[in-house]
Amino acid sequence: MPYQQDLATYPNLEMISRNFGWPPPGAAALAVGRLAPEHEFPTTLPDDAFLDALFYLCAHRSIIRVRSFHNCLLPHATRPAAICVVRRGDEEVRLGSAEIGVVAAGGELLLAPNLVFHYIEEHHYQPPAIFTEAVLARRTITPPAGVLL
Ligand SMILES: [Zn+2]
Repeated sequence: MPYQQDLATYPNLEMISRNFGWPPPGAAALAVGRLAPEHEFPTTLPDDAFLDALFYLCAHRSIIRVRSFHNCLLPHATRPAAICVVRRGDEEVRLGSAEIGVVAAGGELLLAPNLVFHYIEEHHYQPPAIFTEAVLARRTITPPAGVLL
C-alpha cells in the first residue's frame, strides 16, 4: 500500500474498475489514510462515536478486498502481530486486506485502507474533516451486490 497524501487522486482506480467491475470507468476518488512511517500526519484523540461508525464500516462495508494483508508500518512500542486485528464490543475485524469508502458531502468518493481504523485508534491519525463527516453521516458506498464483498 504505497503512501498517498490525503485527498490526492486515488491510485489505480482504472485497474480496480477493470478487476472488480466497480466503480464505473471514469469515476474519480480521493485517497485517505494511506500512511507511511516517513511521512508525518496530523494527530488528534478520536472520539467514540467516530470510532464506532468507522468500525462498522470496516466490519460490514469493506470493499476492494484482496487476498494479501498489509500490516501497519508505523512505529509501535511492541512489535505488532503479523495481521492487525481490532476489536470493538464483541466484534473483531482483521484489517489490512480491504478498503472502505464513503461519499463526502460534496459528492467526492473517499477511499481508505481499512487499516485506517488502527491508524486512528492506535496512532491517533486525524483524517481530513470531510472523511470524518462522511463516516459520521454514514454515507457509505454501496457497490453492486456480490461484486466486492
Ligand atoms: Zn500501527
